[in-house]
Amino acid sequence: MPTLLLATLYEYSPLFYITVVFVCFVVTSGFVLGWFRLDVPVILRNSEEAYSTSFVSKKQMRQVKNPFGLEITNPDVASVTSGISLTPNCLENCVLTYYWGCSVQKLQEALQHHLYCFIIKTPTALENALFGEYLHKEQHVVQKHDKEEIFTQLPPDSQLKDFGPLPRTRYPLVAFLTLSDEEDRESYDIVSMLAVVHVPDRSYRLSCRIMYQYLLTAQGQFYDLKQLFMSANDSQLQSTSASFSHDSTADKDLLEKFGLSEEEVQEDTAKDCVVCQNGKVNWVLLPCRHVCLCDGCLRFFQHCPICRQFVQESFPLFSQSSPTSDSSSPIQED
Ligand SMILES: [Zn+2]
Ligand SMILES: [Zn+2]
Repeated sequence: MPTLLLATLYEYSPLFYITVVFVCFVVTSGFVLGWFRLDVPVILRNSEEAYSTSFVSKKQMRQVKNPFGLEITNPDVASVTSGISLTPNCLENCVLTYYWGCSVQKLQEALQHHLYCFIIKTPTALENALFGEYLHKEQHVVQKHDKEEIFTQLPPDSQLKDFGPLPRTRYPLVAFLTLSDEEDRESYDIVSMLAVVHVPDRSYRLSCRIMYQYLLTAQGQFYDLKQLFMSANDSQLQSTSASFSHDSTADKDLLEKFGLSEEEVQEDTAKDCVVCQNGKVNWVLLPCRHVCLCDGCLRFFQHCPICRQFVQESFPLFSQSSPTSDSSSPIQED
């Protein structure tokens, strides 16, 4: 009977074709748009619905202030025989200790000591870890914010003209900055800074430079600071810098010297999100530390869009409420 009815309709109603096609269309679109709550490809869904329930955990971080700054005053004239001047620029009263001819191996062991045995926050602690493996030591008191250059030289009677051919077993000079007041040592996360300085001599004429700079924390970690290089064409950057207000230019100067300045953060945030090309990048992905996602795109990624590494945790550079308040974070605490 229904067959007969269909056959009759098919014969007599031109609307039948239209109805069948329309019903098929509605059913298909309903299926594709997910009206029947079936699983459909994500690409066809609204992006808001693609929100993953297993998104990356957001880590609580705090800003860490670095009280130490150090630079070579006149790198062109420095040498092992004529000596070298360094200019500290510290936020607190500090002690600057020079170690000439410090053993490479002992210094690396000392850093391991800091990780596993005892916190190196005084020159004595460092000397204990070095087991006296240096040729000459000098100690200077540094007043806070006092940018006075401090000269050091191997004593003339040491007869040392060079540190020999490469590879070397001793660093020419190690400069160690520590906080002089006990209470400062309690209040800062960064308790000391160790700078390995190359000083040219007869056998190795590489220009004078800071080779490594380690920040040692009260939690028993150390971080190797890297040089920061930026585009020479920074007109855009200057315009963004101008819009940032800062209460302490001293902090800024100091951080810039370490290549960890707020400009690093600013440049990052001036860039567009690598995914939507529109949002301001804000999220640091851990452990790879890439900063490439905006607030909106973060939740869609369990892998870093740059290096494909699995994202275990993430934290924002700027909280939404105070986008410019803190931007000086050389270290994130684990
Ligand atoms: Zn985005
Ligand atoms: Zn990455």
